Parts: sequence; structure tokens; C-alpha cells
Amino acid sequence: MDRIKFELDKDSLEAAVMAAFEKAVDVDGFEYECPGCGVAMTVTSGDNECPRCGFVLTVKKGES
Ligand SMILES: [Zn+2]
Repeated sequence: MDRIKFELDKDSLEAAVMAAFEKAVDVDGFEYECPGCGVAMTVTSGDNECPRCGFVLTVKKGES
């Protein structure tokens, strides 16, 4: 049986991932492990303060 080959363009793949990521952030936020204490928290665009240790994770969009 032949294998299906996917040819992925790295740049367009990354762009697609980033677009999906930004869309997800806008809608629901996303789960992220706090860099300070490791607790899972849901972050959205802007400043997100960890409920456990107070680490502020800032999510910025559209930076180039
Ligand atoms: Zn934390």
C-alpha cells in the first residue's frame, strides 16, 4: 500500500498554527502552565495573573 506523503511548507504551516492559536485565544483562551509555579491556568489576550503564585503572563497578539 502506498504511503501518502505530505509536503509541508514550514512557513505556511507556522502561519496556519499561529492563526489558529490567535483565534482560539480570542474565543476561549487556552490552557498554559504557569512559568512560575507550574499550575495549569487558562490565559487569554492581555495580562493573566496566576491565581497561585501571582506570576503575570502577558499574551500579546499581532507582534511581528
Ligand atoms: Zn503560578
